[in-house]
Amino acid sequence: MRAYLACFHDPCGAEYPVTEVIYNCPKCGGLLEARYDGAVTEPWTLKQIWRERRMSNHPLDQSGVWRYREMFPFLEEDRHVITLREGNTPILDACIASSYAAVDRIRFKHQGFNPTGSFKDNGMTAGASQAVRLGMKRVACVSTGNTSASMAAYAAAAGLEPIILIPNGNIAFGKLGQALDYGAKTLQVDANFDQILAIVRILSEKLGIYLLNSVNPFRIEGQKSIVIEMMDQLDWQVPDWIVVPGGNLGNISAFGKGASELYKQGLIAKMPKFAVIQAAGASPFYEFMKAPHEHGFVANTHPETLATAIKIGDPVSWPKAWRAVGTEGLVESVTEQEIADAKAVIGRCGIGCEPASAATLAGVRKLRAAGKIGAEDNIVAVLTGNVLKDPDYIYRYHTNQLQGPDGSSIHGTFANPPTVVPNDIEAITKLLEG
Ligand SMILES: *Cc1c(COP(=O)(O)O)cnc(C)c1O
Ligand SMILES: [Zn+2]
Repeated sequence: MRAYLACFHDPCGAEYPVTEVIYNCPKCGGLLEARYDGAVTEPWTLKQIWRERRMSNHPLDQSGVWRYREMFPFLEEDRHVITLREGNTPILDACIASSYAAVDRIRFKHQGFNPTGSFKDNGMTAGASQAVRLGMKRVACVSTGNTSASMAAYAAAAGLEPIILIPNGNIAFGKLGQALDYGAKTLQVDANFDQILAIVRILSEKLGIYLLNSVNPFRIEGQKSIVIEMMDQLDWQVPDWIVVPGGNLGNISAFGKGASELYKQGLIAKMPKFAVIQAAGASPFYEFMKAPHEHGFVANTHPETLATAIKIGDPVSWPKAWRAVGTEGLVESVTEQEIADAKAVIGRCGIGCEPASAATLAGVRKLRAAGKIGAEDNIVAVLTGNVLKDPDYIYRYHTNQLQGPDGSSIHGTFANPPTVVPNDIEAITKLLEG
């Protein structure tokens, strides 16, 4: 088996060793992706091996990422793997959410069950392992929160030094708190995500620090495991729709690559269609897919949304996301009010998620209303982050104090505020009887 990096940019296609420390094609600046040549195991055998590993106590087999390691064989030695037993996330039924979106059945694959509470762990275990394999000492990323929380944890586990750069004042406390606890050197920069990414790319090159943003092709390899595990859990029955929120568009890129590799190797019988949902105030990919493509990709220089995980105006992976969505897929945008209400509905299912994740349900509801998704379609939406990431948002919504980025108030349609009661059993009894 030969693993190598290839330029994603069409006319170029240059190839590089998998051990070269590059994040873009040195020839043309295009995105890179990992590719593999060589014999592939027969589909039935692979499915069998993956099932058997669920009963194993070996750390790699217990990981919901490395269990599927045949699909991303870029490491030569297992000892380089840094795992916190990521993945292994459930697919959950959600009746209330289904009726809210006016579909028969929507299921959620909840990546918030990961060790640091978001899908970033699926990618970070791969990126951090590659850093170890390359002998790097320091790793860095810019983050809207979850990437830094995840990178800090995996770097700490690997004995690497994590350096994170975050937009000052624009990050949920749950996420910042994690990065501090895991020991990351944390720099709060007075700039937005896209501006800091430009800085950190130069810094990593200058100082020999390994960059772990999603432009890193190995993170994409790890995130492929989300669709692989999903298919395994569905006994290889492909859903009609996989729905995912879009920020920097690394996740949709990984889903598209993962699904098409499963399809090419005969592990699934058809391709799922993908729906990417963006927040209206940070929706450059939605605009691009809506308008005639000859205008090119236009970045949003002032992205705004309370769903901070998808507050990105210049998503690096848009060419890969474009390929993933193809002609069959859909891209939609949803408002702050729609996200907030959808989030509360997901909460009422006993599931819960962070704001960015709820864009999926809001998007399905909108696409269903427009007739673009059918009521009987088989839908799996990916909840990207844990409910505890952003408790401040939850409290404000349920007490009707949530305000959009422009100061407009968001209505607590499904508000469930706490009630203050006196220290008086009679009064409390009365209240509960009423
Ligand atoms: C990172 C993140 C996203 C956005 O994913 P991209 O790969 O950047 O498109 C969405 N939701 C959550 C919770 C995230 O952490
Ligand atoms: Zn190139």
